Amino acid sequence: MNRISHWINNKVVAGTSGKTGKVFNPATGKQESEVELANIADVDAVVAAAKAAFPAWRATNLSRRAEIMFRMRELVDANRKEIASLLTQEHGKVPSDALGEVARGLENIEFACGVPALLKGGYSEQASTGVDVYSIRQPLGVVAGITPFNFPAMVPMWMFANAIMCGNTFVLKPSEKDPSASMFVADLLRQAGLPDGVYNVLHGDKVAVDRLLEHPDVAALSFVGSTPIAKYVYETGTKNGKRVQALGGAKNHMLVLPDADLEMAADAAVSAAYGSAGERCMAVSVVLAVDTVADALVEKIKSRVPNIKVGAGSDPASEMGPLISREHRDKVASYVTNAAKEGAKVVLDGTDKAKDEGFFLNPSLIDHVKPGMKCYDEEIFGPVLTVMRVKSYDEGLKAINENQFGNGTAIFTRDGGVARQFQYEVNVGMVGVNVPIPVPVSYYSFGGWKASLFGDQHMYGPEGINFFTRGKVVTSRWPDPRTSQVDLGFPQNR
Ligand code: NAD
Repeated sequence: MNRISHWINNKVVAGTSGKTGKVFNPATGKQESEVELANIADVDAVVAAAKAAFPAWRATNLSRRAEIMFRMRELVDANRKEIASLLTQEHGKVPSDALGEVARGLENIEFACGVPALLKGGYSEQASTGVDVYSIRQPLGVVAGITPFNFPAMVPMWMFANAIMCGNTFVLKPSEKDPSASMFVADLLRQAGLPDGVYNVLHGDKVAVDRLLEHPDVAALSFVGSTPIAKYVYETGTKNGKRVQALGGAKNHMLVLPDADLEMAADAAVSAAYGSAGERCMAVSVVLAVDTVADALVEKIKSRVPNIKVGAGSDPASEMGPLISREHRDKVASYVTNAAKEGAKVVLDGTDKAKDEGFFLNPSLIDHVKPGMKCYDEEIFGPVLTVMRVKSYDEGLKAINENQFGNGTAIFTRDGGVARQFQYEVNVGMVGVNVPIPVPVSYYSFGGWKASLFGDQHMYGPEGINFFTRGKVVTSRWPDPRTSQVDLGFPQNR
């Protein structure tokens, strides 16, 4: 059995807990590896390595840091396929989707190569007579990233690239369901020349996360995962005096107006709902169809679904892979079964045709959903697209704004004025106009509103730099005998 251990000081290091978790190949349903699950002593050892590496890494000049990150960019680029195949093996996503994940993660490494330009502070000469004022941004120390199963390569790249370029040392606690990509990437960072202890991987479950949340040497935590855990991580971490950004779950609505190009809207809904088997926090899970076009749109979506090729990533023809685990597959299926009982119309039931081997489901389409139904109220995180019919733009907007989540949304229309109105008044962090999955490019920042994000700073891009640094302002005067005098009054500009 392949055993996955921790990564400390640029080496694979066995833990001391004796506890392991099972890592499956979701396409076969078979366990292929076991991953160590850290105890408190293991967490402390990883944090101690990161703490020891911090002073020298912080002192490493910006060009040297950028040189390493540029080398990392080349290494990830050269190893796209290897990383993607690990994603297919442990997560189940098909190669085209896995390569897309690596490409979007790589964008963040490319952005991080330019971090020196973003660490420039401000300078005000002669703020007072002979006095200059300037601002600088400094790293926090040891920072931790806790990441979900659905993007085992990209989400860690959202975090570590900026964190280490800003001068922090980093501890990643990846999902225990698909931990291998983080080890592969760790070795690439070593090859790129990153010094020992700057990037470390700690495998584990709640025990590891809880220790990171209370560890006195961890300055900040960046979390991505489900809403209940995001809220818990935010509340516990901030209570312990740490800086925390915690991104949670989603229920992304796509509002289709009568003037939309319905063919394009149907293509977009199918791609965004069923891609990655719906296990994306930016997946479209609800189509809000305005009544006059709803029947036509549902028909167009329904006609496209049977063409989706569901299968293992090892088959180049597959377009949609399995779900992450048997339990998750069964939970997703239960939403479909329940929907009929709640009065919704199951147009396509993907649960009865699931393969015997592996954790597969076929795509499901549920029409006439309403608030109050479980399939509408909760995040399903599977290949289930629901359709809610609305009378107008206003009713659609109201549904989106009343939803507990606010990660992503999209409007499909040809009316620029309405699209502009939508982006102005919708209470959601990331908005698409005729774009169903509006994940911002790396030089903007990623983050939702409401129950989709706890904290003040969004992930990566400029807000990522803010998150991983703290500001300092220096007011300075060089001795000048001509201006020196005793003055007990409060300092003011002269
Ligand atoms: P999860 O919340 O179960 O796990 C996320 C991380 O938290 C993992 O590393 C896990 O080990 C840890 N964890 C799990 N239970 C814990 C507990 N009780 N205490 C402490 N730590 C715990 O999420 P998941 O199932 O891995 O990922 C899917 C979820 O992530 C979905 O809800 C999805 O919407 C969300 N997600 C959000 C974004 C975003 O950017 N908003 C991106 C990707 C995924």
